[in-house]
Amino acid sequence: MNKKITIAIDGFSSTGKSTLAKQLANNLGYVYVDTGAMYRAIALFAMQNGYIGTGNFDKESLITSLPAIRLQFKYNPQLGFAEMYLNDVNIEKEIRTIEVSSFVSKVAEISEVRSKLVEQQKEMGKDKGIVMDGRDIGTVVFPEAELKIFMTASSTTRAQRRYDELLQKGDIVTYEEVLKNVEERDYIDTHRDNSPLVLAEDAIEIDNSYITREEQFEIVLGLVNEVIKTD
Ligand code: C5P
Repeated sequence: MNKKITIAIDGFSSTGKSTLAKQLANNLGYVYVDTGAMYRAIALFAMQNGYIGTGNFDKESLITSLPAIRLQFKYNPQLGFAEMYLNDVNIEKEIRTIEVSSFVSKVAEISEVRSKLVEQQKEMGKDKGIVMDGRDIGTVVFPEAELKIFMTASSTTRAQRRYDELLQKGDIVTYEEVLKNVEERDYIDTHRDNSPLVLAEDAIEIDNSYITREEQFEIVLGLVNEVIKTD
């Protein structure tokens, strides 16, 4: 049997990281972890408790409440991936709205939030055989990962993809609103002091503006096989 490795997938929002990560995990029989869902869950918690809203952000109350937040992934065989639970409630749908997207990067800047989630992420990956996607996986969570992928695409390509997804789900949004959100999150994610989104030295960069999902999957699967063979 092949040795199990750790695959870290980082990159900008809406670059299709989770699609690629799910394809890889299903093909390799690995666990898939969407760390963005964890930050989104904390943002939803902050919204539900009135700690964050338009024009207000009570960071201190959120930090004080962190021990009361329990995050779990539970595998849904019908969907073929694990859904996010916040204190035993399935919040998979609620965390994908544009409202959560508009607050999540502010919540993700808080060091206490990051330490809590990074600790849980390291624990989930301790036995390897994992594909994890996010912004700091190859740099902070698993700096020793055997394969690191960094995904990019132009902001307009990404906004169009996210806009199409939201419309399909029945959300009422404009393309301009989605583009603004994508660009704002890019800015905050790359400029924050704690674990900013950066290309790890040993990461392989893939710009998928002009390649299909299938082509991208084949490229990365080839990289995985090379690593497994040489390891
Ligand atoms: O991946 P997704 O777009 O769902 O992530 C939502 C947000 O969560 C990102 O824009 C970023 O602010 C934050 N995030 C992070 N570190 C991660 C994963 C996500 O800061 N590892």
